[in-house]
Amino acid sequence: MFDYGPEAIAGILGSSLDAAFTIDAHGLIVDVNPAATRMFGWQREEFLGANISLIVPSPLKEQHDGFLRAFSPDRGVKHVLGSGQRLDGLRKDGSHFPVEVGISAFERDGRRYFTGFVRDMSERQRSEDCMRYFALHDAESGLLNQRGLAEHCTAPAEGRRRIAVFRLEEFRRFSVAYGERWSIATVQEIAARLGAALAPHETVGRVREDSFALWLGDDAEARVDTLAAILRQPYALDTTQFLLTVTFGLSCPGGGYADLLRTAQWACDRAGATGRGGINAFSDGQQQSTVREFCIESRLREAVRHDRLTLVLQPKCRLADRRIVGAEALVRWDDPQLGPVPPAEFIPLAERLGLVGEITDWVLQRSLAEIAVCPDPAISVAVNFSALDFYHPNFVARLCGTLAQTALAPGRLVIELTESAAVQDVPSVNARLQALRALGVGVSLDDFGTGHTALAYLRHFAVDALKIDIAFVRDLPDNRTAVSVAQAIVALARGLGLETIAEGIETEAQAASLTALGVDIGQGFLFGRPLPPAEFHRLVRQQIETTV
Ligand code: C2E
Ligand code: MG
Ligand code: MG
Repeated sequence: MFDYGPEAIAGILGSSLDAAFTIDAHGLIVDVNPAATRMFGWQREEFLGANISLIVPSPLKEQHDGFLRAFSPDRGVKHVLGSGQRLDGLRKDGSHFPVEVGISAFERDGRRYFTGFVRDMSERQRSEDCMRYFALHDAESGLLNQRGLAEHCTAPAEGRRRIAVFRLEEFRRFSVAYGERWSIATVQEIAARLGAALAPHETVGRVREDSFALWLGDDAEARVDTLAAILRQPYALDTTQFLLTVTFGLSCPGGGYADLLRTAQWACDRAGATGRGGINAFSDGQQQSTVREFCIESRLREAVRHDRLTLVLQPKCRLADRRIVGAEALVRWDDPQLGPVPPAEFIPLAERLGLVGEITDWVLQRSLAEIAVCPDPAISVAVNFSALDFYHPNFVARLCGTLAQTALAPGRLVIELTESAAVQDVPSVNARLQALRALGVGVSLDDFGTGHTALAYLRHFAVDALKIDIAFVRDLPDNRTAVSVAQAIVALARGLGLETIAEGIETEAQAASLTALGVDIGQGFLFGRPLPPAEFHRLVRQQIETTV
């Protein structure tokens, strides 16, 4: 190794930014460099002869001499404090600061000495603390973020039992409209309101741009009511006041942080679906229905892929003479594990999973194929289309393609579109309805009376029939409101030159009432249940035979 010589070593120590201390075997300081005096605030004269424990805070101070005594390189004990360790240093003024220490031992004239280099880590510690803060906190609100909340909440604390998640509805829309200044001011106001309202065992964090999570105790339900009222107070930016819609989801009690957060978020999503601005508590029932949904989702993909759906046809009769004039095609799914799953349950899931298009294509093809072999060529088939099918950019082209393959007169196909689907996007619905009319395909507005169509729209819709919803038929003939609604729909349809169809007719009294009101077509268990196509064809054949 290069021989520096005593002068060079003195120069190196003098210019070092790290403090250097040399002590003897008893721990007494025999030399320090200028950095040591700057770092610890003692003068060189005060250091010399003092015990090194002068710069070591308790409890290490009391142990230090013991380390020195134990130091015995011959017996394998080679560390004094341990090199490169992060410790605390003690300044003359009593303040502590983080240091890193490297120590080497050497012998001179038969005596043992130690030289320690001490590095001030305050800056590094500050930047590490700062990085850690930003890793665990949300910069805008100063609240814990998702990770911060998870770390904070892994430590079990008395009284924490449930998580409530709340979402600010339309937050993104407000942010776009009023700018970042509005969103930052709002989340800071939320943090301030909660900061003042939360009990010591309660914690809040921001888990998404528009969602926050609260750790609450056993009184979570009451607390959510109180906090909701606080958060629903108006917010102000400059001179403008804003009211925010806040939706709450509450987890079930007990369990780990991740599970609680998940169930609370799910409950919040569910509350959003049924009514924004509400409070929804996650229940066992919801858990079960979620499990069933997942089960249905995975089995439905298989069922569609492996052609396990079936088709049934329900007769539609002219009320005046009860002759079958058409059929509604309804999809059926009997799963080997789940049993029969009603379409009202799996069609919405299929829409979410992007599977509904495949189902509709399948139902359409099967329906056209079945109606093509129906003994009466005047009978039409009505196929239910979901809003997603109807708004698909290729909707009309796909339909034309399928019709062309079957060589069936387009007039034998009727498309049933729910009233609520039709009012989602009126201009594009109109364009498609016109295209269907040009094709010669019929259109019925299904579940009519439940979808809030503005009459102004209806005037322009190129539809052929209104299907009175089962809800109004059910209460006939005794319920006066139901009678009035049915009467109004018939009058409306007549005025617009449309046919009326009533669905869900189960009794003679309902049929008589609807006939008297002037409804054209009836469908329901009274006239026939949804049947396998072969049975439907048999019914039609019987009708032909009895007429002849
Ligand atoms: P929807 O189009 O209004 O169909 C009428 C529903 O009423 C059918 O239920 C039918 O079985 C039922 N129904 C018929 N007569 C009676 C009756 O007298 N009393 C009672 N209580 N109910 C009667 P289903 O088959 O369970 O279908 C429910 C809904 O699922 C349908 O309502 C429709 O919106 C949807 N759906 C069924 N098949 C399909 C399909 O192939 N594609 C699409 N997109 N949706 C379908
Ligand atoms: Mg229908
Ligand atoms: Mg209906």
